[in-house]
Amino acid sequence: MPVNSVQPKLIIHGGAGSSLKSKGGADRVRQSLYAVIETVYSLLVSGADAHTAVVLGCQLLEDDSCFNAGTGSVLQSDGQIRMSASLMDGKQQRFSGVINVSRTKNPIDLAQFLQTSHDRVLSDYGALELLRELQIPSYDPLTELRLQEWIQERRGNFSREMANVVAEREVLTEAGRGTIGVVVRDMHGRLAVGTSTGGKGFERIGRVSDSAMPAGNYAASNAAVSCTGIGEDIIDECLAARIVIRVTDGLSLQSAFEKSFREADQRNRDFGAIGIAETGAIAWGKTSQALLAAYHDGQAIGDTLEMDSGTQVAGIA
Ligand code: ASP
Repeated sequence: MPVNSVQPKLIIHGGAGSSLKSKGGADRVRQSLYAVIETVYSLLVSGADAHTAVVLGCQLLEDDSCFNAGTGSVLQSDGQIRMSASLMDGKQQRFSGVINVSRTKNPIDLAQFLQTSHDRVLSDYGALELLRELQIPSYDPLTELRLQEWIQERRGNFSREMANVVAEREVLTEAGRGTIGVVVRDMHGRLAVGTSTGGKGFERIGRVSDSAMPAGNYAASNAAVSCTGIGEDIIDECLAARIVIRVTDGLSLQSAFEKSFREADQRNRDFGAIGIAETGAIAWGKTSQALLAAYHDGQAIGDTLEMDSGTQVAGIA
């Protein structure tokens, strides 16, 4: 490693929700997450900045139809896909994002473009105009599994609160989520975070996800956090910003996660979060049954797929 550099750190998630009952489900998710960790970590080791690594991680996860972001996004109540994504650079403490954008492959690319724009958060119509302006080709992120899931739900009059955690035939009957998130500390100690989602699935037209809000995706120079789960619960706790600000005010990342998840548990929230501190500490927590996350701490890759159900916080100092 070059002089004055620190060990890069990386944690990513592919959603939170019901446990992946079938072993096949967990294996498939682990394989997907590890492949992304390996690619993004190699980029970090080659000296890439946090921002670039986060965008690559989000693109790879958006392109994996297993997750509810980009290709494989869930459908809303009217059968349309509307995606949201955001990016926050910890050093600049700068947030950008798009809300309810359609017909594009990688919503995170728009968030990246908006990082250096005067107007940094665009909603549906503005995001569509930006796609045109950037001449990004139109793309349909719909997959057969997500269509079948919607048809099944429509027959049941959309009684479930959310779509499945991942698009897997075996788990199609379970409730869950599958948003993606990437948190990075690069070789220079800079932090960045990105989050991308198709939303909860089956929601009202115009419903806005937490994923393109500081509640669901937030970074400062000393910590960065990405959330997943019921967006309304994440917004009510202002979870990502809450954890980051606690670190800014002096708590360790692990203590900030513990305090925030204790409070969330008392209020019966349903979500999970991942984070990295400037110190290199990595932490994750959940109130939901499962959190689909994997990390690289500089030594080895690990994951959270075997965590017990119920509220839990863990991490690596
Ligand atoms: N938080 C997302 C939303 O409510 C869903 C998820 O995390 O899967 O839109």
